Amino acid sequence: MIKIRDLTKIFKMKNDELVVLNNINLDIEDGDIFGIIGMSGAGKSTLIRCINLLERPTSGYIEIDGVDITTKRGNELLKLRKNIGMIFQNFNLLMQKSVKKNIAFGLEITKLREFKIEGMAEEEWRRLNYFKKKQLKKEAIEKRVNELLKVVDLEEKADVYPSQLSGGQRQRVAIARALATKPSVLLCDEATSALDSMTTKSILNLLKKINEETKVTIIIITHEMNVVQEICNKVAVLDKSEVVETGHTDEVFGNKSSLIVQNLLGGVV
Ligand code: ADP
Ligand code: MG
Repeated sequence: MIKIRDLTKIFKMKNDELVVLNNINLDIEDGDIFGIIGMSGAGKSTLIRCINLLERPTSGYIEIDGVDITTKRGNELLKLRKNIGMIFQNFNLLMQKSVKKNIAFGLEITKLREFKIEGMAEEEWRRLNYFKKKQLKKEAIEKRVNELLKVVDLEEKADVYPSQLSGGQRQRVAIARALATKPSVLLCDEATSALDSMTTKSILNLLKKINEETKVTIIIITHEMNVVQEICNKVAVLDKSEVVETGHTDEVFGNKSSLIVQNLLGGVV
């Protein structure tokens, strides 16, 4: 359902250019929990950001459900983005808003000014405000928020603020917020990197449960191999801007002849 073809991203600097993604080809199917691993600087975040066009590819294309998203702009792009949720390492919650309000955020109209104070990307604000035209009724929003609080097991924390939550609880709020618009794809960029191993496990279990129950496709970017081993059915290895391995997790991790895989797994090189 997500087809990435000949994707290249070049960052142009003053006197130089940096090829961050070099001719990437990937197929991610409906319902996959797809891991993308690689060393720091390999281009993982840039790749995931291309999937919702937070970065525009220099060339190549990305198809989601048969539609080439790289040709989309303006409202068409925003419409498409409502189908793609994203969570981050640092959670990106709105610290001045309660848990409930954070989750409702994607469903309500918000002021750009408020958004800027929180220091979030204007792109993200535009994505969330796509719903401006057809905002849900107050009761419908409340109903959806309550459903989501239940999914992430935070019903008791509905009215507290993010500062009163643990890291794992904050990530649960971020997951609920990302799912509010019922996306078919959830992008996770180092979503567990700030968490201890027990909390990581519980977040991964939650993502797995959500994947099983809603069939949402999950793309997980991480440098933590145990995360991939725990929940990803497929994996791609990114090294120096290129995909060097891809396939079912067992096959890729079992490939003893791949130096980069063994290196990432901490084996002897
Ligand atoms: P990873 O997530 O695998 O650590 P990134 O995708 O964040 O890697 O970055 C890959 C490379 O691209 C790095 O060398 C980084 O410095 C560079 N890079 C990322 N974003 C930009 C940008 N906006 N402008 C210039 N270079 C960038
Ligand atoms: Mg990164």
